[in-house]
Amino acid sequence: MTAHGRLPVVYFPEADERLSSWAARMAPFYAMTVSEFVAALGLKGHDVFDLEWRLSEGQGALIAARTGLSPEAVQAMTFRELGAAARMMIARKSRSACPHCPEDLHRKAAAQPWRFRCKVHGVEFRDATGETLSDRFGADCFKKLEGHAEAGAAHLDAWACGAGQGDLKAPEVLQVLTARHRRASPPNVDEQPRMSLKDRRDYQDFLTTPILRQALTVVVPEYDQAAPVLAKPVRPGLHALAQGSLLQCFALTVGIGRIIEDPVKWAISVMLVSDAEGQGRVRQAISPWPLSLKRRISARFWRAERDERARQSAEKAARQRQSHKYRLIQSHKYRYRIS
Ligand SMILES: [Zn+2]
Repeated sequence: MTAHGRLPVVYFPEADERLSSWAARMAPFYAMTVSEFVAALGLKGHDVFDLEWRLSEGQGALIAARTGLSPEAVQAMTFRELGAAARMMIARKSRSACPHCPEDLHRKAAAQPWRFRCKVHGVEFRDATGETLSDRFGADCFKKLEGHAEAGAAHLDAWACGAGQGDLKAPEVLQVLTARHRRASPPNVDEQPRMSLKDRRDYQDFLTTPILRQALTVVVPEYDQAAPVLAKPVRPGLHALAQGSLLQCFALTVGIGRIIEDPVKWAISVMLVSDAEGQGRVRQAISPWPLSLKRRISARFWRAERDERARQSAEKAARQRQSHKYRLIQSHKYRYRIS
């Protein structure tokens, strides 16, 4: 291959294909490694993942000249539409697999953690074990959740592209979802698999491992029920999405969708079931939210707490009346017996 000529064979990029995926398909054709192929494009020493994040006009023109692809087709393989804050979200390979896409093909959309269907085939992604979200949640439940996930994904798209997002920014919502609203606690009875007494003794470590308790499980109780208990906790803030599993990222995207739809309601729902320390953490996570929202949360939380106290004391009074009645009956019986 000469340094400046056009490469004799060039694959046309597939729909939404990333530059790294295209280069990794091209390199073996010329019996090269990816970095050798990048060098052959005239970009020696450049990392293909840096190039696919941003190609300068000159670099794009160089690749176009070497390959005969149009400069637009070359630039379309990069993530230039995304803002700098979103780079941590971009995985090096597709996060999850589409059963109909070739294994060596990596599309841009599949690098983002808030995509749950193949952009080309429309089918659900599968995780590393081959499981879909429908398998995990049940098809009906998944369908219902998907509506909220779409709202969440639209919000995340706007954030990733640096577009104006209204009142609440995606990272601020994620801070709340990942806040530890209660003290860590071992798996409760609902979370434990059925075990024999012997298993319970053998798995004592599992049964006593404290699990982080995060607001996500309040906003998306479906996740709380469906997720394996040890894999339930997510990382804090944006890292939750950047490093989450398919299931975790879906739950987070649903949670974002729900909070965007009604931030006041969900903030209060979380605070009402928080313990004292956790409530402090949730309040801190909410502190960057717009003042108007925080005021509405404070006012409604105060009322919700008052109603909760009233409900509890009514319950207590009812219990006391009940036991009083019971005592009366008892004493009556007692009198009856001795009389
Ligand atoms: Zn596909």
